Amino acid sequence: SLCCLALNLLDSKASQGELGWISYPSHGWEEISGVDEHYTPIRTFQVCNVMEYSQNNWLRTNWIPRQSAQKIYVELKFTLRDCNSIPLVLGTCKETFNLLYLETDDDQGSHFREHQFSKIDTIAADESFTQTDLGDRILKLNTEVREVGPLTKKGFYLAFQDVGACVALVSVRVYFKKCPYTVRNLATFPDTVPMDSHSLVEVKGLCVNHSKEEEPPRMYCSTEGEWLVPIGKCLCNPGYEERSNTCQMCRAGFYKSALGNLECSKCPPHSFSHHEGSLHCGCEKNFFRAEGDPASMACTRPPSAPRNVISSINETSVILDWSWPEDTGGRRDVTFTVLCKRCRGVTANGSNSGTQRCEPCRSNVRFLPRAAGLHNTTVTVGDLLAHTNYTFEIEALNGVSALAPKMRQYAAVTITTNQAAPSPVTVIRKEKTSRNSVSLSWQEPERPNGIILDYEIKYYEKEEQETSYTILRARGCNVTLNGLKSNTAYLLQIRARTAAGYGASSPTFQFETSPDSFSISSESSQVVLIAISAAVAIILLTVLLYVLIGRFCCRSKSKHPDEKRLHFGNGHLRLPGIRTYVDPHTYEDPSQAVHEFAKELDASCIAIDKVVGAGEFGEVCSGRLKLPSKKEICVAIKTLKGGYTDKQRRDFLAEASIMGQFDHPNIIRLEGVVTRSKPVMIVTEYMENGSLDSFLRKHDAQFTGIQLVGMLRGIASGMKYLSDMGYVHRDLAARNILVNSNLVCKVSDFGLSRVLEDDPEAAYTTRGGKIPIRWTAPEAIAYRKFTSASDAWSYGIVLWEVMSYGERPYWEMSNQDVIKAVDEGYRLPPPMDCPATLYQLMLDCWQKERNNRPKFEQIVSILDKLIRNPGSLKITANTTSRPANLLLDRSSSEVPSMGTMGDWMDGMRTLPCKEAFSGVSYSSCDTLAKTSTEDLKKVGVTIVGPQKKIVSSLKALDSHTKNGPVPV
Ligand code: AMP
Repeated sequence: SLCCLALNLLDSKASQGELGWISYPSHGWEEISGVDEHYTPIRTFQVCNVMEYSQNNWLRTNWIPRQSAQKIYVELKFTLRDCNSIPLVLGTCKETFNLLYLETDDDQGSHFREHQFSKIDTIAADESFTQTDLGDRILKLNTEVREVGPLTKKGFYLAFQDVGACVALVSVRVYFKKCPYTVRNLATFPDTVPMDSHSLVEVKGLCVNHSKEEEPPRMYCSTEGEWLVPIGKCLCNPGYEERSNTCQMCRAGFYKSALGNLECSKCPPHSFSHHEGSLHCGCEKNFFRAEGDPASMACTRPPSAPRNVISSINETSVILDWSWPEDTGGRRDVTFTVLCKRCRGVTANGSNSGTQRCEPCRSNVRFLPRAAGLHNTTVTVGDLLAHTNYTFEIEALNGVSALAPKMRQYAAVTITTNQAAPSPVTVIRKEKTSRNSVSLSWQEPERPNGIILDYEIKYYEKEEQETSYTILRARGCNVTLNGLKSNTAYLLQIRARTAAGYGASSPTFQFETSPDSFSISSESSQVVLIAISAAVAIILLTVLLYVLIGRFCCRSKSKHPDEKRLHFGNGHLRLPGIRTYVDPHTYEDPSQAVHEFAKELDASCIAIDKVVGAGEFGEVCSGRLKLPSKKEICVAIKTLKGGYTDKQRRDFLAEASIMGQFDHPNIIRLEGVVTRSKPVMIVTEYMENGSLDSFLRKHDAQFTGIQLVGMLRGIASGMKYLSDMGYVHRDLAARNILVNSNLVCKVSDFGLSRVLEDDPEAAYTTRGGKIPIRWTAPEAIAYRKFTSASDAWSYGIVLWEVMSYGERPYWEMSNQDVIKAVDEGYRLPPPMDCPATLYQLMLDCWQKERNNRPKFEQIVSILDKLIRNPGSLKITANTTSRPANLLLDRSSSEVPSMGTMGDWMDGMRTLPCKEAFSGVSYSSCDTLAKTSTEDLKKVGVTIVGPQKKIVSSLKALDSHTKNGPVPV
């Protein structure tokens, strides 16, 4: 309950000396010293003129300043004598006295006027006292309190009027009440004087230090000086807590993050606060708080690595299982992320060879349920490449992992996928049906997982179920089934075969042969018939023409229209009947050459889509060509930029003139030229994957050996065709091979001098002319002897580029150093993981003596054998790791002086022929027996054998060339 505060304005008891009140008349009230009930000395005023009539005795107090009081209380303590106890009084004795007051603004001193006073009350005794017969006085002290107000002047006087009583004033106390200063709900309320009337005073509180108003604090001060109805409150600021009506700072080791009257909390685990008044606790070293973690939460850390990773491989998918990390870091929000990397450079037994190169897996690798944010400790990874090394890094993550990248740990597991059979053929189309045959085609499986060797086609009559069936094999994606029953339903399934075996069968495909009564007038038969008749007619006509022209030619040579341009370059003798390449520069009018070999296209048939590259003469764009009554096809369009000279136009179109003479699946196909309108354009088939070098760099290590060999075979086949045509390319390099969406490689960049002008790799030689040094055979560099054999040297370099996924031949060596090193017998080392047979083929292409280099025909047949026997690709030329920048020293001086064939064979013994050429039966081994010792020396230097030396680094090579041989 609220307690009021009484403030004394006057307390007669407290005064020690004379009070100095005024008595009037002077024989009335008398000031007398006495003792109170506790025998404490006090001053009293007494009057007792009961024996006389007409008493009017006044006692006036000193002037009492009002201070802030509006209403005052007067407390009187007095004794009064019972008139009955005075025997002789004759009706004059009174038993009351009057209390009066006078308000003034100043002390009027002794000036006193009776009539100025207002009466407050007549005071009677509750208890009067009686003089006993024994003369003992039984004192009865009365206490009476009277209110006076409202007062308005600065001060007042009180007066006591006696009209004939016997009274002793023992104490007079004058006071007023107020609501005292107080703190309620953390708000301070000042001393407040209540109103005189019955209304309450509304007082606004002020928040104590370090607190904030939540709701405005208020209280009411009653007339009785009591605080009533507290409303609203203040709250301690963050970092402060309420202690005995104040807000005090949290102690060190404690914190309070929010506004409120809660106590400060102890810092949660792994956190601390060194200072008083902390809003939150800082985390210990290596502990963190994630965004959104409440301040009351312990600081946490990233989890430790997952444990016990187990992988189970199923062909090209793997199930990874692991256990929860030992330490979750103190959090529950642990998830797992699996990172897939493809790695090379791991030896067969799984140990790291030291040069492991990893890269992120391709995006088409599938994770089930997903790769990141896993809640369970298992994931299935599918659609990996067959027979490939992968490393999976499994990381446990929690809410603070991102804050501590250095503390993150993962568990890694390295696996090698198995060989996998191809996925099933899914799309089969019926091309043509007749009474007893049907032609079908299908799409290659979505995931061949290697080179498809052939397809097995199994079919049977629907009626017979599978009791008797026929099996056929096809190399391509189409087959014609003959000898079928007419008007019969058949079921068929196809499956693909790779080195890894058969893939799953396709879904069953149903077809029906035509009925017996199938009319000859039916449309398709008509077409077939017409086609057959037309073919027979054409063959007959061709034979006839050939015979006629042959005769005509022999008889009148000079009249042959081609004679003036026929030019059998390179001195090659050509068999009659084999088409030969014609140098367009031998034409007097080069534009005639263009139109001889290239079709003029109407520019309106060509739609350009976008720029895909830059050629020497202008942009190379991709676009579409729509010839009348033909299907629209994608094309590449080379443009001749404006402002060209006549010579530039000639050189630009020369490429088309050359390309137009070729027709081979591995030579870029010319669709035609636009010369009659501008811009002048050369339109060729579109090769979606662009140039081979950048394509390989983009897909580093992503192909199987057999796929790479497939590409190389294509290039070799194109080159065989060119060399058969008598065309020397001079700039065969991976950058000049284009790749289409089916991974088919085609030779491009034709031209004469301009090819080399165009090629940024070409450098001027001392003898003038630009030559792509790294790709060019020594004799072509030295005396411009460009032949198909020098193209074979370049092919060896392309082979190296392919097997090293687009590495730059001779790395950063200067052209001069390359020339010198090659001349001294150094050759590029085998690329990483390169099959020994392929490296041997490279070395053969890099024979110094050009006649010893394999012909393209031989190269094609070597590669074909490899494709048929992919097992032979498993023996790699370099089983141990090696720094990337070593050249193999193959100088003839490295071969110990071998006088005889026997010596040489002895030298070779440690590396049997069989192994060096496994799977390949071609020149080197066969010719060994036939060649002379001299020849053998030349051949011998290129064979991987015990005599090979590895120069420790290019530096050593440098000093070797500068200061003579260095012992290795
Ligand atoms: P070129 O002037 O022949 O060296 O061509 C320059 C660039 O254009 C090449 O490196 C290719 O990226 C691109 N390019 C040339 N021909 C084709 C084509 N037939 N299909 C796709 N891209 C091509």
